[in-house]
Amino acid sequence: MEIKQPLTVDPQTDRILSDLPVIAVVVPCYKEEQALPISLPSLIQMLDRMSADGMISEHSFVLCSDDGSTDGTWCVISEFHKAAPGRVKGIHLAHNRGHQYALLAGLLAAAPMCDAAISIDADLQDDPAAMRQMIEQFKAGAEIVYGVRSSRESDTWFKRNTAHAFYSFQRHMGLDTVYDHADYRLMSRRAIELLAAYGESNLFLRGIIPQIGLKTAVVTYERSSRVAGESKYPLAKMLSFSIDGITSFSSRPLRMIFFVGIALLILDVAMALYVFTSYFGHDTIPGWTSLMLSTWFLGSLILIALGVVGEYIGKIFIEVKHRPRFAIDKDLL
Ligand code: UDP
Ligand code: MG
Repeated sequence: MEIKQPLTVDPQTDRILSDLPVIAVVVPCYKEEQALPISLPSLIQMLDRMSADGMISEHSFVLCSDDGSTDGTWCVISEFHKAAPGRVKGIHLAHNRGHQYALLAGLLAAAPMCDAAISIDADLQDDPAAMRQMIEQFKAGAEIVYGVRSSRESDTWFKRNTAHAFYSFQRHMGLDTVYDHADYRLMSRRAIELLAAYGESNLFLRGIIPQIGLKTAVVTYERSSRVAGESKYPLAKMLSFSIDGITSFSSRPLRMIFFVGIALLILDVAMALYVFTSYFGHDTIPGWTSLMLSTWFLGSLILIALGVVGEYIGKIFIEVKHRPRFAIDKDLL
C-alpha cells in the first residue's frame, strides 16, 4: 500500500519544514458567543496535546469561519487570535449563508496553510478525541476520513427514528451519503482542492464529498449534547436541508413521474374491464362510460408526457452544475 508522506508547510513561507502534518481544525460558527469560549480552549488543548505527543506539527491551528454572526462571535474569535495568533485564525462571512457555505469558506481558506483539515461544529457535539484516530488514518494513507456516530443514545426516540428514516428515504431517492455521518471529517489538502472544482451554488457537502473519490476511512465516535447555546437547526430547517440534498443530487423523482404514468396505464386496462362490465350490465348512466375511460387514459398519458419532459429537465439539471467529470488520483505519465 502506498503511504502518503505528509508535508509540513510554514504558514507564512509555504516551505516544507518536517514530516509531521500541519492540521487545521475548521469550525463554522453562527451566533456561537456562548459555545466558543468553552469549545475553543478545548480544541486548542487537543492540538497542543497531539503536537506534544509528536503526532502533528506545532504549526497546527484552529480556523473559525464566522457565518456572518451579528452577536459577539467575531469578538470572541478576535480575542483568541490576539492571545495566540498562530493557533487561532478566523474569517468572517459578510452575511449569513448557512453552515455548508461557512464550512466550505473555512476549508478553502485553510487548505493552502495545512496538510489536512478537520471540520467540526462549534458546539463540540462531535467528540474531539476522535481526531487522533482521524489523523492516524490520514497518516496511513486515507485522504478523506468520515466521523460516524456510533450510537444515537443521547438523541430522543423521535430524533433517532426520523433521522434514520431520512437516510433511507434519501438513498431511495438516489442520494448517496455516508450513514450517520454529519460534517465531522478530515480532508487532505488534495481532497479540498478537488472539492473546490465543484462550482455548484446549491451546496450539499455530504453528497459531493463521496463523489470526489480518493481513499477513504471511517472513524466512529459518541455524539453528545451541545456545550452551550442552542441548536440553529430546528426540524423545519433539517427538512429543507434534506430536500435540498435530494434535489441537488438526483433526478430520480422526475423519472418516477414517468413510471407512475406507466403504472396508471396498466391500471387503465383493469379499469376499462370494470367500466365495460358495468356498461354491458346496463348498470350505468349515459356519459359515465366515455368519461371514465377518457379520464383514466388521458391522466396516464399526461403523466407519461410529463415524465418524458422530466427526463430532459433531469439532463439539463446535471449539465448546468458543471461538475468535474473525473479526477485523476495517480499517474505514470
Ligand atoms: N452554523 C452556521 N451557520 C448557520 C447555522 C449553523 O455556521 O446558519 C454552524 C453552527 O455555529 C454550528 C454548526 O453550524 O457550529 C452546526 O449547527 P448546530 O449545532 O446549531 O446544528 P445541530 O447540531 O443542532 O444540527
Ligand atoms: Mg450541533
